[in-house]
Amino acid sequence: MEVSPSVPALRLRLASPVAGEEELEAIRRVLASGQLTNGPETARFEEEFARYHEVAHGIAMANGTVALAAIYLALGLGPGDEVIVPSLTFVSSVTSIVHVGATPVFAEIDPVTYNLDPDDVVRRISPRTKAVLAVHHGGQPAALDKLQEVTDEAGIHLIEDAAEAHGAVYQGKPVGGWGIAGMFSFTPTKNITMGEGGMVTTNDARVAAQLRLLRNHGQSALYRHETLGWNWRLSDIQAAMGRVQLTRLPGIIEAKRKKASWMEDRLRSVDGVRTPRVLGGAEHTYMLYTLWVDSQRDAVLERLLADGIEGRIYFPPVHRQPLFMGLGISLPVTDEVAGHILSVPFHSRLVEEELEDVASSLTRAAQLTQRPQSADVR
Ligand SMILES: *Cc1c(COP(=O)(O)O)cnc(C)c1O
Repeated sequence: MEVSPSVPALRLRLASPVAGEEELEAIRRVLASGQLTNGPETARFEEEFARYHEVAHGIAMANGTVALAAIYLALGLGPGDEVIVPSLTFVSSVTSIVHVGATPVFAEIDPVTYNLDPDDVVRRISPRTKAVLAVHHGGQPAALDKLQEVTDEAGIHLIEDAAEAHGAVYQGKPVGGWGIAGMFSFTPTKNITMGEGGMVTTNDARVAAQLRLLRNHGQSALYRHETLGWNWRLSDIQAAMGRVQLTRLPGIIEAKRKKASWMEDRLRSVDGVRTPRVLGGAEHTYMLYTLWVDSQRDAVLERLLADGIEGRIYFPPVHRQPLFMGLGISLPVTDEVAGHILSVPFHSRLVEEELEDVASSLTRAAQLTQRPQSADVR
């Protein structure tokens, strides 16, 4: 991500991937084997990732965006079909729907968890609705039990955008297996990464088979093309690295949970800044640490950047992007949330002094910008 020239060098970055000798060793093994794609590393990564998330099938993909498009295609979604999505997400949760010719329909989010509001989802269901895409914002599972009830009742698919939520759990069950299919991404800001990469999880053998065809030119055997497909494969080099990354995941999540509880204690007495709230039954994995700033969020962000601490808005709402602005969509809760959220550095390698650095910068910024409480949606 480019930093504008007026911003001083950032001392603390939002993300910092953990990778070392073990990954290099795994990559060397693939290079020595001579099989760089379509090989055993991909198959093992799929099995291990699926087992970790307690689902029957893992289908590795080139990235999370095409993984989503592949899910829609595997389910037969296309022109005339609607998919309900939140707007406070990465743009490709939505553009992947457009790419297959279907129509995204935005629903509001819960202003505490930033995840889909199941009651608003119900209001957006039409005879054309075929699926609901539940995004797990920053690693916090959406209200999957309620969303499952809603989609079961309507006879439509629940799909999970778990791009940010590897290893997250809701009511004792990992994300990725709640709906017909779940998607994960491995770009460098996520909790584990191979630079690029994606994964679909599903318990449905037919969907899994369809996804395998779609990602490899529709081939059922060499040069036998059953259906219209793409090259959406992950390489064995990435898969080998992914297998090592997966072994690091429990440690990364545990480290982040400890930091989250440290920050909660530290910021409790700071007026104007509220720490993330975790939904009952949810086990958050803190890919993001998203604060709620009561007033003058942009001034607080500027203060942080001036202190050399990276901060970012995850995400400027998709319905406000030039791409979708012409549609005149109104989402007041989402807009309100987008005006208060601020994600701060929260990678697994931050030491206590660095967390303190973030906390004291926030404290100073909040003191400078504090105003009498205005009414908000929380
Ligand atoms: C990262 C991300 C994606 C896209 O994944 P890529 O691997 O970058 O294509 C989609 N949705 C969400 C919520 C993400 O965070």
